[in-house]
Amino acid sequence: MKFFLGIDVGATWIRIALHDGSGIVKRVRFRTPREGDERSVPNAIIETIKREFRDCIDKVVAIGIGSIGPLDLAKGVIVGAPNVPFKRIDLAVPIMEVLRKPVYLANDCVAAVWGERMFGAARGVDNAVYITISTGIGGGMIINGALLLGKKGNAHEIGHIVVDVERRLRCNCGGYGHWEAYCSGANIPRFASYVIERLPPTREYRSSKLYRLWEEGSLRSEDVYSLARAGDPLARRVVEEVTRLNVAGFESVINLYDPEVVTVGGSVALKNVDLVVEPVKQVLEVGRGLLTDPPRIEPTPLGDDAVLLGAIAIAMETPPQLRGLLKYLEQL
Ligand SMILES: [Zn+2]
Repeated sequence: MKFFLGIDVGATWIRIALHDGSGIVKRVRFRTPREGDERSVPNAIIETIKREFRDCIDKVVAIGIGSIGPLDLAKGVIVGAPNVPFKRIDLAVPIMEVLRKPVYLANDCVAAVWGERMFGAARGVDNAVYITISTGIGGGMIINGALLLGKKGNAHEIGHIVVDVERRLRCNCGGYGHWEAYCSGANIPRFASYVIERLPPTREYRSSKLYRLWEEGSLRSEDVYSLARAGDPLARRVVEEVTRLNVAGFESVINLYDPEVVTVGGSVALKNVDLVVEPVKQVLEVGRGLLTDPPRIEPTPLGDDAVLLGAIAIAMETPPQLRGLLKYLEQL
């Protein structure tokens, strides 16, 4: 029997799953190390694999990794990722050297779109886009059957598309007006504050629960969506503003890549399909603002496993474009 290992490297969690060709047979997860040095992350992964997958490791054919970026694919490293305390994480080579298996590294969303094509909503489709709305916003694209990568593997940083030409808010990357600075889980509270500060303070708004949370300084993105769902007028107003910018982001991506299907993952989108995915669908599936035929837009059927299954998919059937960029494989 042949096995494949998939690894989802996130800023908070690392998840590892063993796949036997027809399904995941075992999975583990642990917190992403925040102490130590640039070897802490690969070392934790290696130790976990040796401990948890000891019995099958000999039968593992290949290992796929879907990781936070930015990446330098030629060297197999994460470089300057926000939200992790290490400037550089040497990811692929240490794992490859110790376990003596090919390790295929890709950006998390790039892995996810490949997973959609193998296991999810893009089966049999040659033009697909995966968009995640989570702590940040990211994307992966398959165009004419080929995975889009760019010179180092970062050709899909759609969270940094300018959706606000007035450039009101600054993004963590240093740019202004970027999609992620308004509509990602980490930044919705900041955008909500911006909107609330500038609205006329009517009695209706001031008596709303969201206004109270804002005054206390304890507003979270979950609150914005749950209160909007409960009918809070101010939360609904904020969601309207977020939706306008989500529509601008999706519209730009669809006009750029002409996909047949757009699947949406990430915790913010998946927990709030009614308020994040549906409103965008309503505008764009009828083709408003699009030069191309509207694609299907749907939440990923792979749910929280989109990146993990994507990592497994790139190990099972490595896209030739990706293999060509991974120069470190020559060291095996
Ligand atoms: Zn940015």
